Amino acid sequence: MSTIIGFIGIGAMGLPMAQNLLNAGYRLVVYDLNDRAMAVMAEAGAEKASSVKDLASRSSVVITMLPASSNVETVVLGPQGVLSGSRPGSIVIDMTSSYPPSTQTICEHLASKGVRMLDAPVSGGTKGAREGTLAIMVGGEEKDYEECRPILEAMGQNIYYLGGIGAGHTVKALNNLCSACSMVITSEALVLATKLGLSPERVIEVINSSSGRSWSSQYKFPNFVLNNTFNSGFSIGLMNKDLEVATRLGRELHVPMFVGTVVQQFYSYAIGQGGEQECHTAITKFIEDWSNVKVRNREGD
Ligand code: NAD
Repeated sequence: MSTIIGFIGIGAMGLPMAQNLLNAGYRLVVYDLNDRAMAVMAEAGAEKASSVKDLASRSSVVITMLPASSNVETVVLGPQGVLSGSRPGSIVIDMTSSYPPSTQTICEHLASKGVRMLDAPVSGGTKGAREGTLAIMVGGEEKDYEECRPILEAMGQNIYYLGGIGAGHTVKALNNLCSACSMVITSEALVLATKLGLSPERVIEVINSSSGRSWSSQYKFPNFVLNNTFNSGFSIGLMNKDLEVATRLGRELHVPMFVGTVVQQFYSYAIGQGGEQECHTAITKFIEDWSNVKVRNREGD
């Protein structure tokens, strides 16, 4: 395959996604601040870049999978960044969950050098990343999307083209708005159920065959909350960032987001209590504490 892909951000998501690109036969150049992640990828068959600029100069497609827009801005536009190393005609795919106006600004800078850009954030968690079953939400020029589709198909299963640059990042923020709200409201329901003497496992079973079910109730509560493992691989800090993207868009457009704004306060409070790096499903613990009720199996607490 002649396409050489540069992958920046070998974290909880980036590592399995990059591994799937290798498995699909792509030649891969990687860069991350974390040496251990670089070593794991080198062991798997990727080439290590010495800097972001070095990676960009060796790649026809650059993928970024970083925590937030501020990191993408630094990596792409900063000194010795992607922009300084990229060749005209190459393409940058930002798979980070980013803030759409920032994405649009980055796209303009890249375009001034003849470099194209797609936004292609994902949903499906570390499990979906490992299994190559991610949902991928794409914004940008449709012909660039068509050109990059085989690359995206190596990492995901349900791939949606949504419109101009930033459209993917917008839809991703809206998805996580819904996801965060369902985590919080299901936690509140289970805390109240437990206080009333009901079994939280039994209640979640009923919700999951009734109209109150969600991905949170069907997947996250049984796998990460009720069994007290809290190891989904997606942090409270990152969820708060996505809620900030969604509610900021609402503020800017004067679209009221009454529920989303309140739900963000839960995650913001958890960060204030030192929970930024904890699993986002651990939001239940904070809701339990307010009522002095535990819905989860307490072994290992
Ligand atoms: P992570 O923190 O595990 O990984 C981020 C990686 O970026 C780290 O390895 C870090 O060292 C690297 N990095 C940061 N700044 C860098 C720089 N300047 N140069 C090079 N490397 C740099 O984060 P993650 O969980 O993999 O999430 C990545 C993105 O995907 C986020 O936007 C997140 O919101 C989104 N996302 C995460 C999940 C999940 O389940 N974890 C699911 C869907 C979407």
